[in-house]
Amino acid sequence: MEFSLTDEQQHLQRTVREFAEGEIAPHVMEWDEASHFPSEVIPKLAQMGFLGVIFPEKYGGVGMGYIEYALIIEELSRVDGSVGIIVAAHNSLCTNHIYKFGVEKQRQKYVVPLAQGQKLGCWSLTEPEAGSDASGTRTVAAKKDGGWLINGSKTFTTNGRYADICVAMALTGAEKKSHGISAFVIEKGTPGFRPGKKENKLGLRASDTSEVVFTDCFVPEENLLGTEGEGFINSLQILDGGRISIAALGLGMAQGAYESALRYAKQRRQFGKPIADFQAIQFKLADMATQIEAARLLTYQAAWLADRAIASGDYDMRFTRESSMAKLYAGEVAVRVANEAVQIHGGYGFLKDYPAEKYYRDVKLCTIGEGTSEIQHLVIARQILSRK
Ligand SMILES: Cc1cc2nc3c(=O)[nH]c(=O)nc-3n(C[C@H](O)[C@H](O)[C@H](O)COP(=O)(O)OP(=O)(O)OC[C@H]3O[C@@H](n4cnc5c(N)ncnc54)[C@H](O)[C@@H]3O)c2cc1C
Repeated sequence: MEFSLTDEQQHLQRTVREFAEGEIAPHVMEWDEASHFPSEVIPKLAQMGFLGVIFPEKYGGVGMGYIEYALIIEELSRVDGSVGIIVAAHNSLCTNHIYKFGVEKQRQKYVVPLAQGQKLGCWSLTEPEAGSDASGTRTVAAKKDGGWLINGSKTFTTNGRYADICVAMALTGAEKKSHGISAFVIEKGTPGFRPGKKENKLGLRASDTSEVVFTDCFVPEENLLGTEGEGFINSLQILDGGRISIAALGLGMAQGAYESALRYAKQRRQFGKPIADFQAIQFKLADMATQIEAARLLTYQAAWLADRAIASGDYDMRFTRESSMAKLYAGEVAVRVANEAVQIHGGYGFLKDYPAEKYYRDVKLCTIGEGTSEIQHLVIARQILSRK
């Protein structure tokens, strides 16, 4: 069993950290306050290869694995979770769905520009009435004249207003329930397809979360992604990888919050000494560091399993249990750690002058997005009980 990162992985980690501190950190609070989507940083992310991490060079990517992917999301999110989630939704949801279930023509047409970062992607499963119960999709795609007519709306789509390419799930056979939902690729500018309301959020405010609306939106037959009726089932597989992203997102933000609290505890003096000298503060820091390390091990383990599945060439090899455990644990740890980071800052943790306040708001997404903590418990329990 090998617990250390390779030299290349350590080099990548340093490179992403330098990038995040140089290109993102100076703007974080300004973007957050203005709910400004950082379009200016997208070409730089593309140049670094961060928009095509897990895709082979043949398809415009940089051909790295999930461990490297988790490191990238973690390091970006350590500085700004908004950038982390933009990159995550683009890579592991939209582009990966097309890469994994698309035919060669679709891979060439969509994955290549997405992985090269010429285009940005989004992925729409959630609807107002279909959240945790995503199989309750109401958006409908009806067969018409060599294609499909899509009607309905999706909500909570990360990158929704800025994406060039959207992968969306729609009902194609209501009577077949979860086997009656199909995935479609829809390009920006397609008549009848438009982003709807931009959500005003608690945290991750520089990321975009929007509705996407379909009104008699016609897409040709070739825009069906994967087998008709299997879009929802395929989505569950996509979420196995997606949950590694959210685990890494939580991990990175927890690390950032912890580092800010550690720094502050050494500087802030009360009763004539640094507050880090008080055992109550030391125990908090010890718990934070321990929980972050445990979350990191679960996250990297899930990433390692994802890499093993890819290396085996067996697309059906699942790592549902481990990615769900990583997401559940890292998400909950991120919330706990950010809470303690504010506490260690005292009143200053409540102010926007210190980063603890922003981490506290941003981390909450990690117990909600890509399946709430309650749903992760259901997924894990199902996996445990079904194992012989
Ligand atoms: C910032 C942000 C970005 C997002 N990005 C995307 C995206 O890019 N694409 C996308 O498709 N979706 C996205 N989502 C949607 C997200 O995945 C959903 O919000 C999430 O799955 C929960 O659905 P819901 O909000 O409808 O909550 P609900 O399903 O209504 O849940 C409400 C509460 O009930 C609980 N609950 C529901 N069912 C059960 C059950 N069976 N047992 C126990 N408890 C239950 C939940 O855990 C939760 O506490 C995003 C959400 C956010 C906030």
